[in-house]
Amino acid sequence: MDIRYLKGVGPKRADILRRLEIRTTYDMLYYLPRRYEDRSRFILIKDVKPGAYVTLRARVLFVSSGFTRRNMRVLRLAIGDKTGVIYCAWFNQPFLGKLFKKDQDIVVYGKAERYDRLQINHPEYEIIQEEKKDSLNIGRIVPIYPLTQDVTQKYLRYLACEAVATCVHTLVDILPINVRARRALTDICFAIRNIHFPASYENLERARKRIIFEEFFILQAALAMKRKNIKEDSSGITHSSDEKLLEGFKELLPFELTSSQVQAVREIQSDMADTKPMNRLLEGDVGSGKTVVAAYALLISVKNGYQASIMAPTEILARQHYITLSELLMPLGVNVRLLVSGLGPDKKEEIRKEILCGEAEIVVGTHALLWEGIEFKSLGMAVIDEQHKFGVAQRRLLKQKGKNPDCLVMTATPIPRTLALTVYGDLDISVIRGLPGGRLPITTYCMEEDKRESVYKFIREEIEKGRQVYIVYPRIRQKSEAGPKSATAMYNRLQEEVFPDLKLGLIHGKMSSGEKDKIMKKFKGKKIHILVSTIVIEVGIDVPNASLMVIENAENFGLSQLHQLRGRIGRGDYPSSCILMGRPRTDAARKRFFTMSETQDGFRIAEEDLELRGPGEFLGTRQHGLPELRFGNILRDFDIMEEARKDAFELIKRDPDLKEERNKRIKEALKTRFKGKLELVNVG
Ligand code: ADP
Ligand code: MG
Repeated sequence: MDIRYLKGVGPKRADILRRLEIRTTYDMLYYLPRRYEDRSRFILIKDVKPGAYVTLRARVLFVSSGFTRRNMRVLRLAIGDKTGVIYCAWFNQPFLGKLFKKDQDIVVYGKAERYDRLQINHPEYEIIQEEKKDSLNIGRIVPIYPLTQDVTQKYLRYLACEAVATCVHTLVDILPINVRARRALTDICFAIRNIHFPASYENLERARKRIIFEEFFILQAALAMKRKNIKEDSSGITHSSDEKLLEGFKELLPFELTSSQVQAVREIQSDMADTKPMNRLLEGDVGSGKTVVAAYALLISVKNGYQASIMAPTEILARQHYITLSELLMPLGVNVRLLVSGLGPDKKEEIRKEILCGEAEIVVGTHALLWEGIEFKSLGMAVIDEQHKFGVAQRRLLKQKGKNPDCLVMTATPIPRTLALTVYGDLDISVIRGLPGGRLPITTYCMEEDKRESVYKFIREEIEKGRQVYIVYPRIRQKSEAGPKSATAMYNRLQEEVFPDLKLGLIHGKMSSGEKDKIMKKFKGKKIHILVSTIVIEVGIDVPNASLMVIENAENFGLSQLHQLRGRIGRGDYPSSCILMGRPRTDAARKRFFTMSETQDGFRIAEEDLELRGPGEFLGTRQHGLPELRFGNILRDFDIMEEARKDAFELIKRDPDLKEERNKRIKEALKTRFKGKLELVNVG
């Protein structure tokens, strides 16, 4: 029903409500409060502790407006109850002056601060005029809605109440009755009524759970259907492989595969042998040895007469894979080729032709692989390394270079289970746990500016021992005097003033690939002692002799970034150290430093990072693909997600196409709620 049919909504109000995406009474019913205030009883002013968020009910004692010492307009309110006085202050909001009058009854919400007196800055406020028994605004648990200009809490409360009264009984319950019974979920009418006007916190909790469960249930049903469709798709390539091939491959390696590498290899082997296309995510910490596993997958495909390809996000990494794979597979007579934009036009053309006629059996490359002119004769296997650096569309493009090729995506940023169950619900996952044996742990220190001299001394000592060092900066160039240091400026200064007797190198993202390549070769060949760099070295640098990394202005890096950077060291037979220089100023930054110094476990770090940044940021906008959740939060409500997932998958198993009459409503909901968006969810 159009929202305008509710009493008190004219055309003008309807326009304003549209800004909140409230068009119908249904929208209003599902326009949920962002928090609640228990206005059935209030804290007394004498009991207010500085630092705490409080809801107070008090009387306005006086209103004064003036200026602060810094010449900002300030409006002050003294409010009091029987037990004391507290001040409220608003800065630069002169219009508020007209609003408050002495002797008004007022409810305020905010954080109490202790100055020379107790004060709440910029509190949320509501002037209370009524004291009716069934007031929506006082004497109960009161909903606080997200607002826009020209709409007040009171008005929304009134509308919510009207909508509930006139329309809640028309809602149809889409959750199957057996699911509701099993999870002790309330019916939808109860849930909607209580999410707006809860009779108790207990009711509120039940309402909340019910609404979130429903949202997750629909999402998971969609994932279940999607996964089923992929599973049933039998139009892929059957890659056969046998023990002999695996044994032969192992013999080429200078080391033994770890047990989890073997496990991953087996899982991949069996996926590839199947008629349906493989869709597998290989997770493993930095340095855990994903590349060899991928190499074997590529080899299987080539041995079956197909071409195989591996795409990496940077040219440095692509070149490195090219070298590794050529050296490894050359003895088997496999033709490995490199395609990156840094190649000359003639070379590119030559490789393009080799890819087209099938002569290039394994093609290692960057985004260049996605160019329009690049066509494979028969692509059987597509590997995407550091998949989180690519967008969904790019991953899909690579796969489309073949006819339903098998696909393996790899990441060193493990996907916490929470996300794996939502975003990657249609992927199979292999995990490489731990690092190959013999690696020494990395010790991580956090240091501030006053320790700089001893850090420089430490650098010297490492170099005297024959080791090499990375120093990483957040920027290429300095933006301002006060801002974070830059690689370019510091490279010059360090070379001239601090380490004039040593050889320093500089590498950053704005350099041409030829230049980068040259520097990396020199560093690898030990012709450079200290490599000054930006985040470009985050992926794919493998120099086992480097044993120390200093990260400057480390508070400017994200947790996963820090972890990836640190993964560049600890690759040799020497004890390694990582030094985080800087001063964390926020809680989040402090947490990042702490986590880094405490653990090297990539899974724990990923969980922590997800917690700190939230799912959207964690995944990055590029590969977003997160369905938009309105009510649930996949971190906070993970338990509910797991239950909903179980039930939804079971339902889809029993009624795969939602043909049964009683599941019709779920089918409807799938169509309306996740339409379009879910396309993005998977890698497929
Ligand atoms: P990532 O998983 O970060 O891509 P890599 O595949 O680059 O890691 O492997 C890191 C290093 O570990 C490489 O030098 C590789 O040769 C080595 N490595 C891989 N597997 C093993 C193993 N089972 N034993 C010893 N070293 C290994
Ligand atoms: Mg790798």
